[in-house]
Amino acid sequence: MEFKTHISVRNLSVFYGTQQALKNITVDIPDKKITVIIGPSGCGKTTLLKSFNRLIDSQDGMKVTGQVFVDGENIFDPQVEVTHIRKKMGLLSQRPYPLPMSIYDNVAYGLRIHGTKAKKELDRRVEHYLKEASLWDEVNDRLHTPASRLSVGQQQRLCLARGLAVEPEIILGDEPTSALDPKSSRRIEQRFLELKEEYTTVIVTHILRQAKRLADYVIFLYLGELIEHGLAREVFENPQKELTKEYIRGTIS
Ligand code: ADP
Ligand code: MG
Repeated sequence: MEFKTHISVRNLSVFYGTQQALKNITVDIPDKKITVIIGPSGCGKTTLLKSFNRLIDSQDGMKVTGQVFVDGENIFDPQVEVTHIRKKMGLLSQRPYPLPMSIYDNVAYGLRIHGTKAKKELDRRVEHYLKEASLWDEVNDRLHTPASRLSVGQQQRLCLARGLAVEPEIILGDEPTSALDPKSSRRIEQRFLELKEEYTTVIVTHILRQAKRLADYVIFLYLGELIEHGLAREVFENPQKELTKEYIRGTIS
């Protein structure tokens, strides 16, 4: 299996106090493909995803051993600046968290931080990213109204637009459609599929059908262990491990 690696995980273990949430995970995440992390609730999917932008080392009682390399740089190296890593990634959580400001300002926020100040340029780029998130048509007549008035599905697409506006290389999504109705979910999925040539995308889901629709590459976790990983087609059609077979059959959940 040949591919260009973007994120490389080596012997990663994560402990919350005495509980070990990830057990010695080693896996490579391909560049500019969609990798889907599947597995039952509590198996460590969120923990693995958060390790990619070092969101997990900010709490008490945590211990992390092993390495995560992004573009060849070990992000757990104390010399490495976290902001520099996080700038490479846009994170979508289970529920959308728009900033308490207008639709326009939510997207302009990141652009302004990155130094875009001129109004014309801001307007142009806000429109661009709202289109990228496939929200523009629904909001272009009320850009200066509060983002909180949007539906949950629209808010999630707004968060996608905001994430894309900082020009990340990597999109991380932690069950990003779980709060959405089926139609909004499919719109977000569609965007991931259309954007995948430009971004390395890693999506956590416990919905097997969604994993099958999205994944180029699959990582199956069970009780903190990596059971199987590989090309989606191979893992779904010809799983090598008994646990994977059972999970795909739906006999464990
Ligand atoms: P998943 O996303 O697959 O549901 P998580 O990564 O959230 O799994 O959690 C893996 C395990 O670690 C679970 O047993 C969970 O209870 C535990 N865990 C997750 N976050 C914390 C935390 N902040 N403190 C203590 N235990 C946690
Ligand atoms: Mg989770």
